[in-house]
Amino acid sequence: SRPVDLDEAVGLLTGARQVVLLAHVNPDADALGSALALGLALHRRGAQVQVSFGAPEQPAESLRALDVAGLVVPHHRVAHVPELLVVLDTGSVDRLGPLADRAETAGTTLVIDHHVSNSGFGTHYYVDPRAEATAVMVLHLLDAMGASVDLPTARCLYAGLVTDTRNFRAASPDTHAMAARLLVAGVDAEAVTRPLLDTHPFSWLSMLSVVLGTARLEVGEARGLGLVHARIGREHVSCGRQEEIESVIDVLRTTAEAEVAVVLKQVGEHRWTASMRSKGRLDVAAAASALGGGGHRVASGFTLEGEAPDILDRVRHALADAPLLG
Ligand code: 5GP
Ligand code: MN
Ligand code: MN
Repeated sequence: SRPVDLDEAVGLLTGARQVVLLAHVNPDADALGSALALGLALHRRGAQVQVSFGAPEQPAESLRALDVAGLVVPHHRVAHVPELLVVLDTGSVDRLGPLADRAETAGTTLVIDHHVSNSGFGTHYYVDPRAEATAVMVLHLLDAMGASVDLPTARCLYAGLVTDTRNFRAASPDTHAMAARLLVAGVDAEAVTRPLLDTHPFSWLSMLSVVLGTARLEVGEARGLGLVHARIGREHVSCGRQEEIESVIDVLRTTAEAEVAVVLKQVGEHRWTASMRSKGRLDVAAAASALGGGGHRVASGFTLEGEAPDILDRVRHALADAPLLG
């Protein structure tokens, strides 16, 4: 496994006739939008292209409109020995779920990612933790390939930018300029953004009322900067849309008294996935990595076996050891 620069990544991408592009499990708009934008460009060049992810069977409802060319296939239909495997927005091979074996069987595996915790897997990896989204990296690749950014491609990239920058609050001037370019290409910002960030069924309100009822504030935790946590039990995780589950952390992290917000999501009888957010003073990527997960300094996650109270204890310990950010 070795790092590659932009030009070498372009060489790998343009040299393959059969390409499988994978996003992480439960792909968000950055993971799927990046895979589809790159997939569209390779498809247009004449490559045989599949886009997929390990779980669930289909993309989240709010992301389906991005796949205008029908490139997404369910994970059980993904080629077993792809000539080129491109893995996007994925910090470690376990985040591919049941498709993790393809990183072994593919002729070449190119990882394109922006996670600070990226483990450097694949035969080649192009990783830039300063990129605010994988979509930023993909637009640079498309430009270097000489690929045109048509409207469907621009929508995929805009969806990635808007999600990973929290609606451009965390976007640099360069990323704003990139977004402006996508708007000029014809993206309707409101039409792309509303289903991603602003749309929930009425039943979300009663789910929220139950889940927010589990919220607890612990002002002494997270190095005295405050921790707020809540849990989403299996009855809500298994019948809700991903969009509703993932929205809870965005409510919790508004808590003024807490630097860190954590939402535990029950994904099995004794198995929980956590979302962690900080406001920029504590490194939650380090805390998540200590618990076997990963992510970004201000947005991370992990998955653990056990019961919620024990996992919360481990979270408190990991946060007590997490580095302060300058
Ligand atoms: P989210 O809370 O939005 O699901 O995830 C935030 C960040 O944490 C993502 O960028 C993702 O990389 C990371 N993350 C979330 N869940 C997991 C997990 O179970 N394992 C690992 N390694 N990273 C995770
Ligand atoms: Mn992602
Ligand atoms: Mn991302």
